[in-house]
Amino acid sequence: MKKVYSFPRGGILFEDSTVTPISTFHDDSWSVLASFRKIWGSEHPLMNIARKGLNVFKASVVAQSDSVSQTEEQPMLKPASSRGYVDSFLPVLSVIPLTQNNGIKVRRLVELGDTVREGMLVGKGEEVGAANIHASVPGTVVRLVSWEMAEGVMSEGVVIRLGGNFERSGKQEEALPWDYLTSAELRNRVRDCGVVEMEGSGKPVVETLMEFDNGPKPLSLVVSCVFDDPWRVADYVLCQEYFESVVEGSAIISKMCGAEQIVFAVSSREQWLGERFITEIAKYQIPTAIVLVGYRYPQGNRRELELTLRIYEKQENVKLGRLLIQGPATLAAVRDAVVLKKPVLERFVAVGGSAVRNPQVMRARIGKRIREAFNECGGFVREPSRIAEGSPLAGRCIANLDEPISKTTYALFALLPKQVGGRVTRSCIGCGECRLVCPVGLDPEVLFKRIESRAQVAPWVFECHGCGCCNVVCPSRLPLSTLVTNAAILERKRNV
Ligand code: SF4
Ligand code: SF4
Repeated sequence: MKKVYSFPRGGILFEDSTVTPISTFHDDSWSVLASFRKIWGSEHPLMNIARKGLNVFKASVVAQSDSVSQTEEQPMLKPASSRGYVDSFLPVLSVIPLTQNNGIKVRRLVELGDTVREGMLVGKGEEVGAANIHASVPGTVVRLVSWEMAEGVMSEGVVIRLGGNFERSGKQEEALPWDYLTSAELRNRVRDCGVVEMEGSGKPVVETLMEFDNGPKPLSLVVSCVFDDPWRVADYVLCQEYFESVVEGSAIISKMCGAEQIVFAVSSREQWLGERFITEIAKYQIPTAIVLVGYRYPQGNRRELELTLRIYEKQENVKLGRLLIQGPATLAAVRDAVVLKKPVLERFVAVGGSAVRNPQVMRARIGKRIREAFNECGGFVREPSRIAEGSPLAGRCIANLDEPISKTTYALFALLPKQVGGRVTRSCIGCGECRLVCPVGLDPEVLFKRIESRAQVAPWVFECHGCGCCNVVCPSRLPLSTLVTNAAILERKRNV
């Protein structure tokens, strides 16, 4: 049995694809704690033991909740076919976004009425942070649109009406050799194809690589296959279905950045995946290692993964040096860009939540409207109370169902009111649960009170990475994570 490494403190078990088991458990845990507090007082050492005990109890309740959640009320995300995913229908109208995650726009290269081919460059990324954008379907540009996203950022896009022939899809594509290419040539292909970090940040991969160009050696490429959050199921399916592409992408990136070794960081429950990686990567003759990591959320976060790997480094007496962390969707896209010269035209997306009739993982074209993705899953069982993308812990609310699936959309979810748990907040009861789960060691309770009283919150708020653990455990349903991250944004603006 291989040793499992984890980040040292905080976090929660997030076994279920819904947030209900954790949130509904709030009231019980708080009333139990409250009665203990009445007996012992809040500072009594036994209170700490009671809190820890409740956390363990909570974790086990969440872990046992899988069977409950596979009801119509709380469907789990599960593969819809033996392949693990479905190919979604081609959209008649695609909204190709020209604004990146960070709000940076690309230069539009097409005009109304233009005919576009599948994979044709329609937006040129010229500024730092912007990647090229391609037409995911052939057709005609019928509209230029802009829309406001939930967080107030304006986004722009071109609407393509499907028409004409597909030049790539359904055709046998020739695999080009890449081992004779230099790092610069490999980067050019990746840049041309608009590959970004598809697991969330949306940063162009080539820009990330540039940060590692100079600096001390060794350098390790870390392939992050950490499934601490069930809403990462689309990446899991991608790993299963396009395993060879992920591995070849790892070999390509390690050549691009001159990494001395590849470390596969794999959740301990997916040990088989790590073993497959090692077998497959052998043909590239690159030194490799598997590190089994825990699946307590947010183990997959960059910070927590780095901490874990530093613990591994120390305990195993190995030297990893600087860590370049990349996820499976990005690696598969790098492989397609280099081996097939194929731009990012589609991605795997998990669509689910209690309001969705038939949750499933789908392979969808970039630009497919979110409304259509939900419709393809049978629509909603009832009016959802919240629609968002990403994870229920750290996702982004969707303001408009006509927003498109972008390169970084890995999950879409729609929740019933019961699952969201109501909007009523209560006063802080000082239970300290938020402190216990914060992986960074912040005290969200204190920060919340300081934000309320407009007291100084810098520099602590800058440490928060928005994992959302404090939100989930707060029995008073205080939006701690949102308040802390917003306070950090305000402080940064103030300091500019
Ligand atoms: S304060 Fe920030 S880092 Fe800490 S638990 Fe809350 S969201 Fe996560
Ligand atoms: S803010 Fe923290 S201490 Fe206050 S009720 Fe919520 S979890 Fe408990």
